Amino acid sequence: AEASLRQSQKMEAVGQLTGGIAHDFNNMLTGIIGSIDMMRRRIADERYDGLQRYLDTALGSAERAAALTHRLLAFARRQPLDAQPLDVAAVLGAAAQLVTHALPETVTLRPDIARDLPPVLADGNQLENAVLNLAVNARDAMPDGGSLVISAMTAQGGDIPAGAAHGDFVLIKVADTGEGMPPDMLDKVFEPFFTTKPLGQGTGLGLSMVYGFAEQSGGSVRIHSAPGAGTSICLYLPTSPTAVDAKVDTAVQTARGAG
Ligand code: ADP
Repeated sequence: AEASLRQSQKMEAVGQLTGGIAHDFNNMLTGIIGSIDMMRRRIADERYDGLQRYLDTALGSAERAAALTHRLLAFARRQPLDAQPLDVAAVLGAAAQLVTHALPETVTLRPDIARDLPPVLADGNQLENAVLNLAVNARDAMPDGGSLVISAMTAQGGDIPAGAAHGDFVLIKVADTGEGMPPDMLDKVFEPFFTTKPLGQGTGLGLSMVYGFAEQSGGSVRIHSAPGAGTSICLYLPTSPTAVDAKVDTAVQTARGAG
């Protein structure tokens, strides 16, 4: 449990730091964006055609930076969990709808939700967010296309923690056929700000949010990934308060997640 404690303290410190910086940064960006916009209006004249283009570029960059600070703020202010019995199929169905719009034609989405899933105890908005984050990561890992499967089933056998019973956890899996990750990278992916994406595209907060959500819900996350073979991320969410209790011991094992 020590490793996961350190991870959550780190998350908290990072959250505070991020919130402070993002807030100040956002104020500065508001000034920058406002000024550029004023300039653009003033020089709305053909003679300044070249200038307009520079201003458009500057505005585009400033707006992307503002979008990033908004995401950072949302991360820092992570709302307290509102855990309710949730219909997983409904949440995943809504998430799949949103995901469809974000996928290129070369990526096929296949939902595979078991019937008669027990409700899980979790925050529905955060679950939806987690699944969206995972799906966007999957898309980004498949630049040449591939398949994305979002599935849900009752966790079975070796997948359930010692002491838990069948039906105590629901397994939600987001699997892609993308580039996969080498083992040394798997050790870092849950760390806040770890990203391999270009500046402005990745925050490195997606998987740490997913991790935080799972842990706070009394569940866990596991990643299976290999270069060239794709990645699957398994989220285990409890169906009852007793399942949450059963989970405690396995936090370290599942938190490392490189299984
Ligand atoms: P971000 O997506 O902003 O980079 P994340 O925390 O979600 O932040 O992911 C961290 C890194 O983990 C990504 O930059 C990427 O290198 C790697 N990663 C995450 N999901 C996948 C995936 N499905 N396939 C391959 N690599 C992934």
